[in-house]
Amino acid sequence: MITHDVEVLLVGLGPVGSTTALYLARHGISVAAIECAALGATDLRASTFHPPTIEMLDDLGVATKLKTEGLIAPRYQHRDRKTNEVFNFDMGELADITRFPYRIQCEQHRVAHEVAETLALEGTAQVAYHQRLVFMEQDEDGVTAWVETPLAVEKYRAKYVIGADGASSIVRKLLDLDFPGFTYNDKFLCYSTEYPIENAFEGLSHVNYISDPEEWMVLLRVPGLWRVLVPAANDVSDATLLSDATKNELFRRMLKSDDEVVTRHRTIYRVHQRVVSQFAVGRVCLIGDAAHLNSPMGGFGMNSGIHDGINLGEKLVRILRQGGDHALVQQFHRQRHQVTTDFVQTQTIDNTKMMREGPGAARELRRERMAKLNADATLRRAFLKRQAMFTSLEDAAAIV
Ligand SMILES: Cc1cc2nc3c(=O)[nH]c(=O)nc-3n(C[C@H](O)[C@H](O)[C@H](O)COP(=O)(O)OP(=O)(O)OC[C@H]3O[C@@H](n4cnc5c(N)ncnc54)[C@H](O)[C@@H]3O)c2cc1C
Repeated sequence: MITHDVEVLLVGLGPVGSTTALYLARHGISVAAIECAALGATDLRASTFHPPTIEMLDDLGVATKLKTEGLIAPRYQHRDRKTNEVFNFDMGELADITRFPYRIQCEQHRVAHEVAETLALEGTAQVAYHQRLVFMEQDEDGVTAWVETPLAVEKYRAKYVIGADGASSIVRKLLDLDFPGFTYNDKFLCYSTEYPIENAFEGLSHVNYISDPEEWMVLLRVPGLWRVLVPAANDVSDATLLSDATKNELFRRMLKSDDEVVTRHRTIYRVHQRVVSQFAVGRVCLIGDAAHLNSPMGGFGMNSGIHDGINLGEKLVRILRQGGDHALVQQFHRQRHQVTTDFVQTQTIDNTKMMREGPGAARELRRERMAKLNADATLRRAFLKRQAMFTSLEDAAAIV
């Protein structure tokens, strides 16, 4: 059996895994990055890059597509669908703490491909597609992993293994870890279209959260497309949800027009709020969706995964190159577990609730809270920093 000896085996080349592998390779760590699929998945997923994530990608020299193809979104808005009241938030107010005082709207696959292609050129990285991790076991000195390739099963021996293998992570399952949390009752339905939705709402920005107790909506602009996210009843079949009839009704209600809206994608998905009990067990670590899942309200999933990966990368470089203690991986666990629980989970649960709240006292309270936030410069800055994920990075750095 072929055996590969590397310092780090990284499983899963989504945006989180590829960025982490690139960080390690750039620091001279020998890393094998394996992916069970082919390069080139273009499904509709994350589209919002927050300022600290853009900084991390830019520092690695892989923000070219973001900067040249992405849409600069300095302003995002919360709108009430019934009253049409709008609260705008301008990230330009953070220009003193970041060179990117805006979100960039760009589909995650464009960035993931740029990162994976750059990684393949690094001398200390081996990148392999159509390779699936099937089993691993660890001892005091390292981890042995068995990987299925199209022709054979190959063995990897690594000092550390990183599971960046997404929501159904086999690495997490092999560690037999709890993944506590819950799944929302309704499904989320996502469309993309070239239709000029901006003509139907006054003053729309590139990122819009439109709350409504009956049918909330998230409208996100990406290059050449609008993405529309709405809730869908759990007891309606996927075939009905994906039908032209459902699509036509939805856009008729939204646009108040009988225009035919042609969609490019229609996707249904279930949304979970879960955090793994341990981000690191011995020499095996989890990052990204393998470690946590959350509602897309706020655009934190992929961004927080990349923050996990850079945090872990820094620890592994210190351990493998600078004489740092192996116990640093437990600090990675403490830092990322805590901010994922305290910030990402709490905030996305809150954001999701806010979208569908009301009518009545709770909705009025939310309106008052939003108005106060929007009007008070100190509160607004704290809100902008938190939503841009600066605060969670500062909080993590303070955990020993
Ligand atoms: C509709 C939607 C909208 C979203 N919007 C946002 C947003 O605006 N902002 C945001 O931050 N997040 C958003 N998210 C979440 C975001 O897409 C995920 O958090 C992100 O894709 C996680 O990246 P990842 O690299 O951890 O996992 P993935 O992208 O799932 O990548 C995991 C990779 O591992 C591979 N793999 C799995 N098992 C194995 C194995 N055994 N061996 C080898 N390879 C394996 C898979 O093929 C896959 O390529 C959204 C998600 C959805 C569904």
